[in-house]
Amino acid sequence: MYHLVCVHCGATYSADEILYNCKKCGHLLAVKYPLDTITVKRSTWDARPLSVWRYKELLPVHIEPVSLQEGGTPLYHLKRLGEEMGLKHLYAKHEGMNPSGSFKDRGMTVGVSMAIQLKKKSVACASTGNTSASLAVYAAKAGIPAVVLLPAGHVAVGKIAQALMHGAKVISIRGNFDRALEMVHDLCLTHGLYLLNSINPYRLEGQKTIGFEAIDQLGCVPDRIVLPVGNAGNISAVYKGLLELEALDFINSLPKMTGIQATGASPVVRAIKENLPVVQTEENPETLASAIRIGAPVNAEKALVAIRKTGGTAESVTDDEILAMQRDLARKEGIGVEPASAASVAGIRKLVEMGAIDRDEKIVCVVTGHLLKDPETVIKQCEPPIEIDADLPSLLSALHL
Ligand SMILES: *Cc1c(COP(=O)(O)O)cnc(C)c1O
Ligand SMILES: [Zn+2]
Repeated sequence: MYHLVCVHCGATYSADEILYNCKKCGHLLAVKYPLDTITVKRSTWDARPLSVWRYKELLPVHIEPVSLQEGGTPLYHLKRLGEEMGLKHLYAKHEGMNPSGSFKDRGMTVGVSMAIQLKKKSVACASTGNTSASLAVYAAKAGIPAVVLLPAGHVAVGKIAQALMHGAKVISIRGNFDRALEMVHDLCLTHGLYLLNSINPYRLEGQKTIGFEAIDQLGCVPDRIVLPVGNAGNISAVYKGLLELEALDFINSLPKMTGIQATGASPVVRAIKENLPVVQTEENPETLASAIRIGAPVNAEKALVAIRKTGGTAESVTDDEILAMQRDLARKEGIGVEPASAASVAGIRKLVEMGAIDRDEKIVCVVTGHLLKDPETVIKQCEPPIEIDADLPSLLSALHL
């Protein structure tokens, strides 16, 4: 049986308490397992299909999970892009291949299962888009209502389409994500909905399995894991999971945790570069990579630890660098991702150019969400289709044949 522990002051709480923050100091809570009593064998995991639930001994869910077969996403060797950058071992873990098209599904299968386990009747979140799409999907599967708060005008159309179609109550607020999160937090505390943003300790438990899968697929611990960073939940989650694997003696080294942000929304990068003890929030974050348009990253404190303790780094990339990598992934590797996802690989390209990366490193870039999430940004970058009369000569002429 696990319990909850404050990441700041170490106060502990029992597993059945519904809490999002430490009652003593207000900081975030994390799930802590009695690792010395967990006796699972590597071979037991290896015998199960690659998925979030392969690792159920390190997850808090005891009931039949609310699952749509999330995880088990492909790990692609980026041969062509790697060659261009002089990297032999560059990989992308395509989290866009999850049921709702982003890694948020790993968190939501666990988070919504926990909502049921804790006997909650409804769920809610604030979202830059993917969290709401994923919550809508899993609430539908669980048969419970979901409320999602979005920053008006700043959510990609594919994500809104999903939240609406899967039946969530979708509210657009005239404010940014950071404000939407404050509001939904208040709503949940006062009206008993179960909050499934990344301050929820259980959601991150699901997300840590990205790191587990990457190791299982690669057959070894990569030298570096690179993630786009918004609220910094994912990078913190992956690091936490790796610490657990190390404590279980399943691995004996840690990858350099590397976080990439957009130049217009890069408080974590600044804290790392200027060696600040805490992240200073940005009032008006701006980037077309809407999934990482966040000025006050909720999990920043944990992310700084993950990056610093593993000798990793953080770097920012411009929107142009992000879009260029989105096109390169699509056209040179056949991997379709949304802009925020391309940030991880764009960050590696930049770090290589800066000479900050050993070219022999085994590098896993997490590409977080699918191309079709944000078709508008795609269409804007591409030439429109060539419209012709319906005859062969017109076709040949359009093809310059
Ligand atoms: C949520 C999200 C991110 C950011 O993850 P955090 O855990 O908030 O740092 C990055 N990319 C995509 C596609 C996302 O949906
Ligand atoms: Zn505390």
